[in-house]
Amino acid sequence: MECQIEANKAKCPCTYEPCSRKGKCCECIAYHLKFDELPACVFPPEVEKTYDRSIARFVKVFTAQDQGSRKG
Ligand code: SF4
Repeated sequence: MECQIEANKAKCPCTYEPCSRKGKCCECIAYHLKFDELPACVFPPEVEKTYDRSIARFVKVFTAQDQGSRKG
């Protein structure tokens, strides 16, 4: 299976423009996991734009969602 970099880039919601990993999802995930983080695409836009990609923030966002809010 060939990597679909251009198709991935087209769908990527990450707003950190200078990143060289855009569209290379395997590199993106591996990079963030090293720092106990997750990729941009798992966060709602208002959290993604803060660049806080921590697993702790992810849990906070989706715990809040379960309680009726996605403010994070
Ligand atoms: S989530 Fe991180 S590694 Fe992935 S494209 Fe955005 S800045 Fe780059």
